[in-house]
Amino acid sequence: MKEDKIIIQQSLIYTSVIIFVLLIVLLLILLYAYIKCAKENRVLIDLVNKRSGFFRNIIHEIRTPLTAIIGLNSELKTKALLNSKECRSFMEAIDRQGMHLLKLVNQLLNMSKINAGKDNIQWENGNIISYLEMVINSLRINAKEKNQSIYFMSNESHIFMDFVPHYIENIVQNLLINAIKFSPPKSIIQVSVKKNKGIFVLEVADQGIGISSENQKKIFDLFYQVSNSISENGSGIGLNYTKQMIENMKGRIEVESEEHLGSVFRILMPIKHNSNLKLSAGNKKSPEGAFVLKKTFLQIKQPQQEADMSDSTKILLIEDNRDVVLYLRALLSDNYDVVAVDDGVEGLNLANIIIPDIIITDIIMPYKDGLMLCKDIRNSDILNHIPIILLTAKSSVDDRIKGMQYGADAYIVKPFTSNELVAQIEALLENRKLLKEKYMRSILKGDKILFNDINMNFMQKATDIVYSEMHNAQFSVVSLAEKLSVSTSQLNRKLTAISGYTPSNFITRLRIEHAKKKLVKDDKPIGVIAEECGYYDLAYFSRIFKKMTNKSPSQYRRSHR
Ligand code: ADP
Repeated sequence: MKEDKIIIQQSLIYTSVIIFVLLIVLLLILLYAYIKCAKENRVLIDLVNKRSGFFRNIIHEIRTPLTAIIGLNSELKTKALLNSKECRSFMEAIDRQGMHLLKLVNQLLNMSKINAGKDNIQWENGNIISYLEMVINSLRINAKEKNQSIYFMSNESHIFMDFVPHYIENIVQNLLINAIKFSPPKSIIQVSVKKNKGIFVLEVADQGIGISSENQKKIFDLFYQVSNSISENGSGIGLNYTKQMIENMKGRIEVESEEHLGSVFRILMPIKHNSNLKLSAGNKKSPEGAFVLKKTFLQIKQPQQEADMSDSTKILLIEDNRDVVLYLRALLSDNYDVVAVDDGVEGLNLANIIIPDIIITDIIMPYKDGLMLCKDIRNSDILNHIPIILLTAKSSVDDRIKGMQYGADAYIVKPFTSNELVAQIEALLENRKLLKEKYMRSILKGDKILFNDINMNFMQKATDIVYSEMHNAQFSVVSLAEKLSVSTSQLNRKLTAISGYTPSNFITRLRIEHAKKKLVKDDKPIGVIAEECGYYDLAYFSRIFKKMTNKSPSQYRRSHR
């Protein structure tokens, strides 16, 4: 009986141990499943984020050329007075932008073919050195635009091997375009080639911004872009496509890079001779895309940077797509002076020189994007009065709010119609005109209502200086500029923009306004009041006074007492 009890107790203990162990195993399985699920979710969220980033960039890439194509075409249709040279340049720009779109679409299509394993690879056997020379030569013009030089170095004049010509063309183009894009002006890009134990080695080295070791692991992933303002102008597909093409030729790609020093992209490919198709000197095909690029860039003129100080309304256009610039110039240059540059840093420098009446800027730009540019302009004493229109492919409400928070006055989404842009410019200029009158009225009246306004602060500073030098007949525009720490031309454009008066008229206006008050309040002789207002020649003072008030000083005194 007792033994039976012991057996039952033991089996109960065994059963509970087994149940306990099973429970632990179940818990571990559940924990594992949970961790796996969370990891997959993270990967999924990451993929969704990458995808939406990719689509945003692709939309920018597509909308910008579309703006130029639709805009230039409507100019061709509506402007009867275009001369044949203008017509031709518009048509060439449409052609260029069409080619750019086609290239983008082809690249996407080729990638999807490679991904699906449906790419029809055309191996050929030939001298890869002379083929590379052609591809590189066609890109020299792109480098020259940034004053960069491309050096091509090879120990051998011939390396005969199997390769896929259109892959090599696309690979070298992608690597060189990146090297140009991510390197500063006047730098050197070196392409070198060598043969090492049956392996063909090609290196593209630049002196650019470099890539951190963490990012080096990710740049070949689809859609991956290092977050900096230069990268924003791309789509994060180039290096992934490059890697796929190299792997299809049984090769591999490596990167070595140091931040702020530069990068080296290295391609290694086995040298083989299996192809029956010979790429001989006779049938040496000119790389198609490369030819198009060369033709394209040869036709583009440098933007003009005329910085004259004429009175006409000046628009500073900051946009890196030359054809959008061409379209906007065509649209605006009849009525305004248009000066164009292609990046934010240059834009800010030029704005400080010419003090434009309005700035139209793209958001996505190299070196300094449109939002940072807005911020810098709003923080500048000299430039903060200038209205800014952001031109962009981004169109979400959040983007608009962000634009406004950085100080933009208007937001126009690409592709836009000419009426939309012109109406916006006119509305902003009209608004500034009303503000000018309001500012000047409050300065003359000594109104305090607008005193928190940045433009009003500048005018108040200028007014205080003029008042402190009121008795000084020698006080001039040059002295005012010196006291405000700006150049005379900057003062001229800034003060005219916010007050509607040139600096010399502004000083005269304040002197006469002061004289008016004194004539009514003080009993001093007119000659003394004239001297207190900086006029030591009474006849001259009376002439100026009459011109501005339609009354002589004594008439004015009589009628206001
Ligand atoms: P994208 O079209 O955006 O340029 P890529 O796939 O060609 O895409 O490049 C991915 C990222 O790798 C870029 O966003 C850039 O940050 C980085 N990168 C590529 N080439 C270079 C280079 N030569 N120097 C510095 N960064 C580079």
